[in-house]
Amino acid sequence: MSILIKNVILNKEKKDIFIKGNKIERISDNLNLKADDKIDGKEKKAILPGLINCHTHSAMSLLRGYADDLPLKDWLEKKIWPLEKKLSQDDIYFGTKLAILEMIKTGTTTFNDMYWRPEAAIKAIEEIGIRAVVGLVILDSNPFGSIKNVKNYSEIFKKRKFKNITFSIAPHSIYTVSKENLIWSKKFAQENNLLLHIHLSETKKEVDDCSKKYKIRPVEYLDRIGLLDKNTILAHTVWLSDKEIKILAKKKCQVVYNPCSNMKLASGFFPYEKLKKAGVNIAIGTDGAASNNSLDMLSEIKFASLLQKINPMGRLLSNGIDERKLTIAPAYDIFKSATENGAKALQINSGRIVQGKLADFILVDLNHICFNPGYNLYSDLVYACNGDCVSDVIVNGKVLMRDRVVKNESKIISEAKNRIYLKA
Ligand SMILES: [Zn+2]
Repeated sequence: MSILIKNVILNKEKKDIFIKGNKIERISDNLNLKADDKIDGKEKKAILPGLINCHTHSAMSLLRGYADDLPLKDWLEKKIWPLEKKLSQDDIYFGTKLAILEMIKTGTTTFNDMYWRPEAAIKAIEEIGIRAVVGLVILDSNPFGSIKNVKNYSEIFKKRKFKNITFSIAPHSIYTVSKENLIWSKKFAQENNLLLHIHLSETKKEVDDCSKKYKIRPVEYLDRIGLLDKNTILAHTVWLSDKEIKILAKKKCQVVYNPCSNMKLASGFFPYEKLKKAGVNIAIGTDGAASNNSLDMLSEIKFASLLQKINPMGRLLSNGIDERKLTIAPAYDIFKSATENGAKALQINSGRIVQGKLADFILVDLNHICFNPGYNLYSDLVYACNGDCVSDVIVNGKVLMRDRVVKNESKIISEAKNRIYLKA
């Protein structure tokens, strides 16, 4: 399979791009090659790497808007967990499809997922064709999150070939997984060449409880039991000491900034500037649709940047502005976090539009209001646009959205709608 993309804007210049199989084969000023498919951007579309959502729980799209604006304990214990308990394998399948549809419509080409019953997510991912890292969840209180279950899944998945899917081991957190099972998870990840994906230091309570129990903070705890290295993806990392940031940098860990979820659940303030200065790779995620409530990465990156300009403890100048904060998390850096840094975190050969990379990219409509008058593409993308500006999505050399049309869109939506009316 080959695709010839004509007349698209790449780094302010008109280019043609030839896709062969699942790779970007050639980028040139004028290509007239035979191809199985052709897309003409007519100089009105720009090509960009697809967005990479580095932390989500895709099936939770079925819980979007079910419970909001409640104290954390009530939200989780009275609303989210009881409804999640009722979710069947089919619900997870249809919920994941809804999430994938939303991600494609808003320009995401890869997501890093954490949810139980991974076979349901895999079925949805394979049917639609997006790229994903599927987490095999360890959660001590849930029979689906047992070691036995993960071993079984692993044996089954090893026998199959996946085009767009790789796997991680995903111990949920340090407060829901025992020390023994955390250590087992890392050993299992090393033996099977898997990434390890975990929530860490999301709330102050988590840090306080860890300090009380082990006399050390969460990053120090994970370091002590051998969980930290470049293959470890830490979601949230809101509450970090300077010492912990040094450890994350030294161990080359991947961290995921989830600005909307951190704000909505009042978790705290992600130390972007300190982590960046320390050289830690920062990726971006939406978290699940219960705590966001959108999976639109182009909206997420606006929050990611703007939130960093707020400084609750800032040194204010006489005009009331902390001038230094204005330059933190500029548009291009944040866009890079959502693309290139995400690819690095997930160890995927994508994240940039260059020859030899995977053909995972998006076209955006430069006639959309948000790109006009058009001084700076990255400023427009981060501060003015949302996912609506994405016109075409290609993943692994396959067109998943053409001129904003995704196959079976209305069917996916109505199937998800039916599910929620049955359960709530
Ligand atoms: Zn999460």
